[in-house]
Amino acid sequence: MPQDCIFCKIVAGDIKATKLYQDESVTVFKDINPQAPTHILVIPNQHIEAISEASPEDQVILGKLMLTAAHIAREESVADNGYRLVVNNGRDGGQTVFHLHVHLLAGRPMRWPPG
Ligand code: AMP
Ligand code: ZN
Repeated sequence: MPQDCIFCKIVAGDIKATKLYQDESVTVFKDINPQAPTHILVIPNQHIEAISEASPEDQVILGKLMLTAAHIAREESVADNGYRLVVNNGRDGGQTVFHLHVHLLAGRPMRWPPG
């Protein structure tokens, strides 16, 4: 794991986060700077820098991220009203943490197009 990766440290438990779920391949925790009433991050335990860096061998974990996000949305009782899943990639995509993560945003109507 890259020494300076904050999300690797959250997976390992070296940095505190409000974890909602963790298993052998994914970790789910609350975003520290929420942009909606529900703002949760779903990340792979393994360090993948960005979706643009993912390879065909990552196919299973990428599917798991999406299915986990949908599962957590049901658990958090936001599935009925709806929610948005976001993956920011690279500079213009607004990515600030270079460990792949899926944002689960809910609890208010989302605007389109996003800013
Ligand atoms: P992005 O801009 O798509 O790379 O998203 C990174 C997200 O990680 C932002 O929404 C941050 O608020 C969130 N974040 C950064 N550090 C932490 C942390 N220590 N715990 C929880 N969320 C974090
Ligand atoms: Zn990492």
